[in-house]
Amino acid sequence: MTGMPLEKSPTGAAHGRLIELADQCVQCGLCLPVCPTYALDRNEAESPRGRIALAAALARGQVDPGAGLREHLDHCLGCLNCEKACPANVQYAELLIATRAMLGPAPQRPRRLLQLIRRPGLMRGLRRVGGWLAMPRWKNRLARRLPPGSAWRAALLIMPAGAPDTRVKTIDAARGQPGLALFPGCVASVEDALAQQAAISLLQAAGFQVSVLPAFCCGAMELHGGETDAAERAAQRVRAAWAASGASQLLSVTPGCLGTLRRALPGVRVLDPLELLANHGHALRFRPLAERVAVHLPCTQINVARSDGALLQLLRRVPGLQVMPLPRPPHCCGAAGSHLLEFPERAAQLRDETLRQAASLAPQRLLSSNIGCRLHLAAGIEAQGLGWLQQHPLTLLARQLEHSDLPQDRP
Ligand code: SF4
Ligand code: SF4
Repeated sequence: MTGMPLEKSPTGAAHGRLIELADQCVQCGLCLPVCPTYALDRNEAESPRGRIALAAALARGQVDPGAGLREHLDHCLGCLNCEKACPANVQYAELLIATRAMLGPAPQRPRRLLQLIRRPGLMRGLRRVGGWLAMPRWKNRLARRLPPGSAWRAALLIMPAGAPDTRVKTIDAARGQPGLALFPGCVASVEDALAQQAAISLLQAAGFQVSVLPAFCCGAMELHGGETDAAERAAQRVRAAWAASGASQLLSVTPGCLGTLRRALPGVRVLDPLELLANHGHALRFRPLAERVAVHLPCTQINVARSDGALLQLLRRVPGLQVMPLPRPPHCCGAAGSHLLEFPERAAQLRDETLRQAASLAPQRLLSSNIGCRLHLAAGIEAQGLGWLQQHPLTLLARQLEHSDLPQDRP
């Protein structure tokens, strides 16, 4: 037992809030079967209930945050399957953010690497230089020379082989026309620009006005990594860009950004474009595509964006398309923000199970909305020689749009 009385501690209010959140848990254990880390380790400390108890004990000063103990909290994927399953409405997302803020960044956090990938201009430039140096041909060989747990090894393995997509340029809102603003983000603005362009094409075809905000990081990785000040600076940048946009709703094609954007902009409608398209895109017509597609539903799409139903509904409007959501479990592919860099071996175990489930469907391509999940899954598809095309569902939908001038994919 350590420490001064909670109410006299300088961080007492934050700890008090954490304890309040933890005390909502009635320890029923109904969240255990949906927790991917509990499925991996079968250890109470790797379960939601165990983590809540650990967080409360840390906040009360009953235990010290030694490496072994905090690792159980660091392993949490933030998938929020537990929050959705909880009958006592424990606000696990809030609790996890508060716990990580209390502990600060994890020791294994690759801070330099994360700083790099949060800067879209720098990332795009480095990818271009890598292309000139024929990096796609040798990056995997270089990666395999690094230790299996290395974040740089994981980053090299998930780096796509081709050139980055053409950037979606900032578009200011039309004067006097409060439309939709698209948030490009950081990694997604480099690696998922095709999906962002697809969203704009589909939304315009459905009659919406779309502007595009400048590309920068929403702060999700900082918020979930215990870097509170950096997360707040990112939130301020989001608020400034939003205020300048004059738009009425904010969109992101990356479900992993939506929770952080909503947190930065309370009271603003922040949506997955799939939801708008499913509800207001009745006039959209799609060309047939005779193909079997496996649909990976990212945890944030199900538990935060809640746009999984909209996604499946839209895909089923493509004539001839066999839409096959992955059976659940698995609950998480293991990407989970920076988790795939911090714990690459655990992330690979979770990915293998996801790919095994996908393979049971014998698909010709794999769709996933979250760029982190897709890069992680693509590296597994390549390593296992599965040969599936992988893409964002919006890209498929935009290419199948009637009268679209985008080329259709060849599987
Ligand atoms: S389901 Fe909710 S109340 Fe039950 S153990 Fe999990 S977090 Fe606690
Ligand atoms: S967020 Fe996901 S990984 Fe973390 S405790 Fe909840 S179910 Fe488990």
